[in-house]
Amino acid sequence: MPIRRLPPEAVNRIAAGEVIERPAAAVKELVENALDAGARRIRIAIERGGVGSLTIEDDGGGIPVEELPLAVERHATSKLVAADDGAVDLLNIFTMGFRGEALPSIGAVARLTITSRARGRDEAWRIDVEGGVVAEPRPAPFGGIGSGTVVQVRDLFFATPARLKFLKSERAEAMAITDAIKRLAMARADVAFILENDGRTVLRLPAEDDPENEGRRRRLAAVLGAEFAPNAVPIDATRNGVRLTGFAGLPTMSRGSGEHHHLFVNGRPVRDKLVVGAVRAAYQDLLARDRRPVVALYVDLSPEEVDVNVHPAKTEVRFRDASAVRGLIVGAVSHALAAAGHRASTTVAAQALDAVRAGGWGGGGSGGYAGGYGAGAPVRPSQAALSAWTLAESALAFAEPSSRVETAALASAPEPAGAPVIDPLDFPLGAARAQLHETYIVAQTRDGIVIVDQHAAHERLVYERMKRHLEAGGPPRQALLIPDVVELDPHDCERLAARAPELAELGLVIEPFGVGAILVRETPALLGEVDSRGLLQDLADDIAELGEAHALKERLEEVCASMACRGSVRAGRRLTAPEMNALLRDMERTPFSGQCNHGRPTYVELKLADIERLFGRR
Ligand code: ADP
Ligand code: MG
Repeated sequence: MPIRRLPPEAVNRIAAGEVIERPAAAVKELVENALDAGARRIRIAIERGGVGSLTIEDDGGGIPVEELPLAVERHATSKLVAADDGAVDLLNIFTMGFRGEALPSIGAVARLTITSRARGRDEAWRIDVEGGVVAEPRPAPFGGIGSGTVVQVRDLFFATPARLKFLKSERAEAMAITDAIKRLAMARADVAFILENDGRTVLRLPAEDDPENEGRRRRLAAVLGAEFAPNAVPIDATRNGVRLTGFAGLPTMSRGSGEHHHLFVNGRPVRDKLVVGAVRAAYQDLLARDRRPVVALYVDLSPEEVDVNVHPAKTEVRFRDASAVRGLIVGAVSHALAAAGHRASTTVAAQALDAVRAGGWGGGGSGGYAGGYGAGAPVRPSQAALSAWTLAESALAFAEPSSRVETAALASAPEPAGAPVIDPLDFPLGAARAQLHETYIVAQTRDGIVIVDQHAAHERLVYERMKRHLEAGGPPRQALLIPDVVELDPHDCERLAARAPELAELGLVIEPFGVGAILVRETPALLGEVDSRGLLQDLADDIAELGEAHALKERLEEVCASMACRGSVRAGRRLTAPEMNALLRDMERTPFSGQCNHGRPTYVELKLADIERLFGRR
């Protein structure tokens, strides 16, 4: 067959496959158009999962009648301007759209009607496109005052029956549409969104003022659930012209899957592996491996620093300086979480109260004062407790062999002479009153009670201390009797060799050994016997993918975590009152002490108001 040009309808249908792969993609494009038009209020109504019909109504600037035919023409856009020589600047994009593909693509595969009244015009006009066939614009009635546009899409994919077959259930498509709108609504708290599904209002989000701070917090709570607002810490950091804002959920509010990372780059909702990796690194030692934090992060930077023209759906981006963005995210998020200190999320107390309510009181007999009061005379530690204690000391000895200060966590810290005496009730975690079941410390605060899991808390304290030592002095290394020769891909070898000084700081001493091999001379003593090949391969992969030798730090921290776990005060050890108070004070001082290394809370706080409610006093 000779080579022939495809007719424009076929070209549009082929392109539509990329841009509009399901109803949610059409909704996303149309809502983005409304945002680009400066809308303050956007109403979306869908029927039968969006396949029956989609209506998007906005109060933006509208489209003048003379431009209506162009709006549905392929590669026609009002958002990019060509210079005199025809060059177009794809680096300075300030709008959501720029490809001029959405409307013609939708028109090619559905029945599309656009009705619009342009700003400053009296009449409204409509244009119809059916399966790629464009009709003349004609006058149309238009409700309301002012400018705006109503886009209606019926029988999506009627012109491409194959695509229709691949759609999921109407329910699933409606869910995907809701998610797409939620993402855009999180990006633009200043715009009101209303979504109706088969006549039922499923989302009603008022426009918020202060859309970068409290307004954003309210919008996020409306979209992500009311528990988000009180359990997230604000983030605001700028480095080298890149600004990161948003909120990071406390680790104790974690979820079981990664669908709760919400990322926005210059106001555009995106999915980005780099950012997901950075968030994971920031929470790395705060959550068990299968738990995921809830975060909403907003990266704003000069459009020249990020390429949004990566994919027709524009949901992916490429950063010019990816490792700087990653560093900013890891740094700012972990810093904000550290500043949250011992805070555990309020969801913990709520769960506790629910459990108490659900548990019922009819059990009889099994409760009681089993633990006695721990504040009496010091009790000789049991054999088990003693060995736990020795473990704790030896676990710490690696970092600071000559010092015993570590054990001060549980010894009563001497008060500096002349220091003002603070009433322990005024401390955030209050005054220790009792130890129950040799496991839980019960403390009294000004307005409630705090129950601490002594093992979980101490594990976290030991771990944080080990980490500080790691950071301060670098871990001790152990020289290999016979250096290991590891053969690797030459590119990997180069990458590793380039990072040798940084790796040495972490206790791994390597040097290049001809082409395609690396010599391992010393390894971090903490790791014990090391599978050099496996470790080097992991490190090379990290450096290639993330620009950072992540795996080594991760492994070292993992070892610290398990040593801390073994070395901490077991449940079952009796503590004296000064020991308990010392533990509480230590928790208040230590970052991340609100959760153990697995993301479980180390304490629960019940406010008097909660307790009164339990007893029906309120
Ligand atoms: P793009 O958004 O990439 O420019 P589209 O095909 O989505 O391409 O839209 C084509 C043009 O139609 C836009 O550039 C814009 O000028 C106009 N347009 C589309 N939707 C709207 C709307 N809701 N309000 C005002 N103008 C619109
Ligand atoms: Mg568009």
